[in-house]
Amino acid sequence: MVEVRLDAVSKVFARSGDPAVDKVDLVIQDGEFFTLLGPSGCGKTTTLRMVAGFYFPSSGRIFFGSDDVTRAAPNKRDTGMVFQNYALFPHLSVAQNVGYGLRTRKVRGTEAKRRIDEALEQVHLAGYGSRRIDQLSGGQQQRVALARALVIRPRTLLLDEPLSNLDAKLREETRLEIRRIQREANTTSLYVTHDQAEAMAMSDRIAVMNGGTVQQVGTPEEIYRRPANRFVATFIGRSNVLSLPVLGAGPQHVEVAGPDGVTLRAATPEGHGLTETDLALVSVRPEHVRLTGPDAPGALRATVLETEFTGMSTNVSADLAGTPLHVAAVQLPDGLTIGDTVGVVLPPEQLWVVRP
Ligand code: ADP
Ligand code: MG
Repeated sequence: MVEVRLDAVSKVFARSGDPAVDKVDLVIQDGEFFTLLGPSGCGKTTTLRMVAGFYFPSSGRIFFGSDDVTRAAPNKRDTGMVFQNYALFPHLSVAQNVGYGLRTRKVRGTEAKRRIDEALEQVHLAGYGSRRIDQLSGGQQQRVALARALVIRPRTLLLDEPLSNLDAKLREETRLEIRRIQREANTTSLYVTHDQAEAMAMSDRIAVMNGGTVQQVGTPEEIYRRPANRFVATFIGRSNVLSLPVLGAGPQHVEVAGPDGVTLRAATPEGHGLTETDLALVSVRPEHVRLTGPDAPGALRATVLETEFTGMSTNVSADLAGTPLHVAAVQLPDGLTIGDTVGVVLPPEQLWVVRP
């Protein structure tokens, strides 16, 4: 239980290549559940491994509270690790797996047994101690891995895509379970995933990464409602980003010329610096676009290119004056088919200007 701080942490693997992690600054608060989210290869695992001590940074520093752990060996950091593939010992029992970290820390006998029982209780596997690993389901194995990480009472819990090997339903159950356990243990946690729904559901805060750099840090709601740039807007929830000429600007909004000649108003971050004749990148989420009849007042006209029924909604791909537009409609206008002209309403309260 400690604050974790990364100060301008970089990792370069090949002397000639781009950094895998590039000047990352992060503060993870004491007890916080913090997630690194981004596409494959963006540097999440490398960052996590530097916090664990499996890699040392090429530059920058890492602190646990006031301890500078930048070059400390992994076993001197008191971190609990959970991996995608569980990394359990198949020939050992559940209790032996959980107790592994205690043996290396010289905790033995009744004290060890008490701690193992306590950890198994924490993950709702009390009574499973004598089972063999191959007698457990994937979800149960991942909970054993979590118990093994927690039994040493780590200062930080590090989890690298721990749900990736589970099927969809179990993944959702296990993510709730991980969060419950983390809350009860109140351990500062750094979680890695490429799955935005998982990150949104689990995290206190998220750092969105791309190309080795942090693009934005915020609560799930901040990142969803107020994406900082085009990458975050499109990676989280596949926002539409329209490039539109600025007609006028205020401190927290711009007026832009919509694709159909209609003037639209969009909210902006303060200090946006946009003026007339600039192009603004206006983001709008597929679920916020409304479809109406083509002649509805204030509606833009678009052509339907494709529809895809997903159960909860229908995804509509449309062409809006040459720009592709994605719409997620809970209800479609009656009899809508491919090739139809529809009306599209972009609600002003849902338009948000992002940086390039
Ligand atoms: P992520 O976990 O986000 O998928 P990684 O941190 O594993 O990304 O990788 C970031 C980048 O660093 C990738 O380009 C990857 O190929 C490279 N990389 C990761 N580990 C090594 C390594 N041990 N040696 C060389 N390059 C590596
Ligand atoms: Mg990874």
